[in-house]
Amino acid sequence: MRGVSNPYPWYFGKDTYGGITLPEGNHAAITYTNSLFDDSEFGQNYYEWLDISSHEVGHINHIKASNKIADKQYELLLKTSMYAKDMYVPSLETHRTTSYLSKFIASYLKYGGHDKSPLEKQADKGSDSFNRFNNFVNEKYGNNSLINLLKSDISDTKKIQQIDKYWNEYVKSKETTK
Ligand SMILES: [Zn+2]
Repeated sequence: MRGVSNPYPWYFGKDTYGGITLPEGNHAAITYTNSLFDDSEFGQNYYEWLDISSHEVGHINHIKASNKIADKQYELLLKTSMYAKDMYVPSLETHRTTSYLSKFIASYLKYGGHDKSPLEKQADKGSDSFNRFNNFVNEKYGNNSLINLLKSDISDTKKIQQIDKYWNEYVKSKETTK
């Protein structure tokens, strides 16, 4: 996890906060805009943090799928480079990142924008389910219950236990309304 002040302008548009998930080694790394670390901006906005994070983790599966294809291309690239003397071969990691990003840029261009890309809509399922859960807790226990719990001074173990309790109630409520 890390922060950057003006990352990928084509990606964030004019939004004042955001994140991007990129391949890193055999896993993924989420980069957030610095505004999310700045307490005078969104640093204390737990909701924004949770909302963007539940979206970004949705991209981890995109990265896994993209890496599989990129690795196959890379094998071919290495083979070809044995016959072409001056061919530039990037590192596997650079190759993975480039092919992942180009896939997204192509998708944004094709569908007319970041938010319209089906890849983004898939990732939005994560933030959608976070929002449904958050709304459920708000209705049952009062507005900002989840955020207040996270902000409170009790231990992380207690917080996790309470969130588990909320989550189980939420799952049960979905089962009975089916
Ligand atoms: Zn996204």
